[in-house]
Amino acid sequence: MPPAVPDPAGATPVPFNVPQPAGNELAYLAEAVGNRHLSGDGPFTKRCNAWLERETGARQALLTHSCTAAMEMAAMLFDLAPGDEVIMPSFTFVSTANAAVLRGAVPVFVDIRPDTLNIDERLIEAAVTERTRAIFVVHYAGVSAAMDEIMAIADRHGLFVLEDAAQGVAARYGDRPLGSIGHLGAVSFHETKNLIAGEGGALLVNDARFIDRAHILREKGTNRTKFLQGRVDKYTWVDVGSSYLPSELNAAFLLAQFEKVEEIQRARHRAWDRYHRAMAPLEREGLLARPSVPQICAHNAHIYYVLMPTMERRTELLRRTKAAGIGAVFHYVPLHSAPAGTRFARQHGALPVTDDLSARLVRLPLWAGLEDRAIDAVSALVADVARG
Ligand SMILES: *Cc1c(COP(=O)(O)O)cnc(C)c1O
Repeated sequence: MPPAVPDPAGATPVPFNVPQPAGNELAYLAEAVGNRHLSGDGPFTKRCNAWLERETGARQALLTHSCTAAMEMAAMLFDLAPGDEVIMPSFTFVSTANAAVLRGAVPVFVDIRPDTLNIDERLIEAAVTERTRAIFVVHYAGVSAAMDEIMAIADRHGLFVLEDAAQGVAARYGDRPLGSIGHLGAVSFHETKNLIAGEGGALLVNDARFIDRAHILREKGTNRTKFLQGRVDKYTWVDVGSSYLPSELNAAFLLAQFEKVEEIQRARHRAWDRYHRAMAPLEREGLLARPSVPQICAHNAHIYYVLMPTMERRTELLRRTKAAGIGAVFHYVPLHSAPAGTRFARQHGALPVTDDLSARLVRLPLWAGLEDRAIDAVSALVADVARG
């Protein structure tokens, strides 16, 4: 448990996130220690990869030490080179952009949709130039971007698609799991996500062309995987690469989470739905806006956010929640307005929706063990501020 925030008003503090063990973590950690195999790609990593392949339908799932690492691998697999352009939203975490920038490629920011806060698929085609090589899609809050339309644009222009599905574990677009639709997908098991390993992630390889090279990049540019499979008789340096494997300890922890995915998801949805019901009257009165989930998307209750009517109202809500010991937070500073964004990236036209919504968004505390009375206390405070 993080230290409780002192609360002058006497209400119970509600942290933003409390990582929840699902049950078998310590037993599996002990088993990993007993196995005498602590580095990467031992039995627990293999079981996690197999679980991900079963759940997502990916041709190959490879556990990594972060989603950031998986996206760096994707940028290498797409052979991004200096001067290439990658279309992506500005409303995202820095790792989406860094993956391209580390190859010398230029992120080209496109505005987001006001309903889902995902890249606006209607604006993508106008941003395509002869230098465009890929589209990096982000599924904000585990609500899918419009993948049918985006894959069709990619097909028309011969572009690769990476899904930044860091927030998308256990969410779907139609019947397809997020991360399984683009050529490559990347997911995160950071302790703030739905399923956790402390730090962790995975690359989902959906296009089989990338499988062999993905193994090599992840093993420091060597063909060690083939060697261990007995397919070559010595292993050597064959390509660029880095060390992207997580240790077996992370994989052991993660497997325990995978096995309880249904319970974890049920608990998160219960909390999400309770917030959503509590915010409904405020939305009807025009005092704030709630998340909206398109019909085709099955979200995963990753984030509950509200959009306040103005930035001033948001500042007031953050001030009041902080004073009450409630861990409500804003989210991304849009990358086009960040110092590195102006150096390394460019924007396609103005980004009015990104600028507007990022200034009004507040994320509320949400985790699998969050109690109803905490949700009710947070909701009551939001209502109080919204009604002014
Ligand atoms: C959390 C997150 C990441 C980074 O994940 P790590 O596993 O911490 O590297 C990347 N993109 C998005 C959209 C995220 O939410």
